[in-house]
Amino acid sequence: ALTAGIVGLPNVGKSTLFNAITQAGAESANYPFCTIDPNVGIVEVPDVRLQKLTELVKPKKTIPTAFEFTDIAGIVKGASKGEGLGNQFLSHIRQVDAICHVVRCFQDENITHVSGKVDPISDIETINLELILADLETVTKRMQRVEKMARQKDKEAMAEYEVLSKLNDAFEEETPARAVSFTEEQQKLVQSLHLLTSKSVLYVANVGEDELLEADNNEYVQLVRNFAAKDEAEVIVVSAKVESEIAELEGEEREMFLEELGIAESGLDQLIKATYHLLGLATYFTAGEQEVRAWTFEKGIKAPQAAGIIHSDFEKGFIRAETVSYDDLVEAGSEQAAKEKGKTRLEGKDYLVKDGDVMHFRFNV
Ligand code: GDP
Repeated sequence: ALTAGIVGLPNVGKSTLFNAITQAGAESANYPFCTIDPNVGIVEVPDVRLQKLTELVKPKKTIPTAFEFTDIAGIVKGASKGEGLGNQFLSHIRQVDAICHVVRCFQDENITHVSGKVDPISDIETINLELILADLETVTKRMQRVEKMARQKDKEAMAEYEVLSKLNDAFEEETPARAVSFTEEQQKLVQSLHLLTSKSVLYVANVGEDELLEADNNEYVQLVRNFAAKDEAEVIVVSAKVESEIAELEGEEREMFLEELGIAESGLDQLIKATYHLLGLATYFTAGEQEVRAWTFEKGIKAPQAAGIIHSDFEKGFIRAETVSYDDLVEAGSEQAAKEKGKTRLEGKDYLVKDGDVMHFRFNV
């Protein structure tokens, strides 16, 4: 399963945020595909469509879908040279599929900042530079290997060398791999390098608990937004401290607390949704009298693979998927009505599953 890693310098609020995630998070018993690891937190994906479907179908139970965050501790300046937890840290980042980069935007004299003052851009650049240096090493090593073959005019080696040089130049200007444009063919080569700076990133601006409502007046948040815009990355504003308080509450109490704070949605919920998209994930639904359930899939998969997420037998014996889009179903008011209006389609094994599809799989056993 895909996972997002939480990174950031020490004392920016990572642990506080991660604790909120585990506290609010789901039990792994409900999600057997999830890892059981103290550094992994499972979150359920908030989705209003699931409530709507529940009202419509009135099932015995409703099950949201979930995915994982991994807490990656211990980056400091010099990590790419083995400082702090250096190499260990980098290998943990290598294993995640996207990065949530937590940045300190709160002022608190009692909490030491590693470089002496709050400076979010310098913090971001410190971490980004470590990742770029690690990638530079990967690329340089590879260049040494293909150089000779390339000079002997070996076509493949020449093509690879061109890609590597382009990356090398970018890294020397402190540009991450994700910002370099390549042809589709070259992109495959880049992917095979498993670079750290190829991974998509979003920034989490951690503001003080009293600043949540006026986050845009926070000059640090503005700086992060400007920086992220250049990186085409999203920024989520949270107050890790507030999130840890929200995470302790459920149901009505939670609603009341959010209302008191004057916010419609917790920062954590916003972060979960944004990260889900960042990972390239989407949701399809199954809806029956027994249960209404959301399922996570990676965008681009076809109907049989989607069926396989529920059970491998569904994929092996796949015949067809009876499919209606969430919007059509809600508009029609019931599955029966959707059928009568001709909104329900029978899709075969080449069907590309879309976000919001409500599916019934037909299969041979
Ligand atoms: P980490 O080293 O990045 O994991 O940071 P921690 O989560 O351990 O936070 C470092 C310190 O900052 C702790 O004492 C937290 O209570 C504090 N902290 C985290 N978020 C906030 C915040 O939004 N406001 C304030 N005032 N303190 C915070």
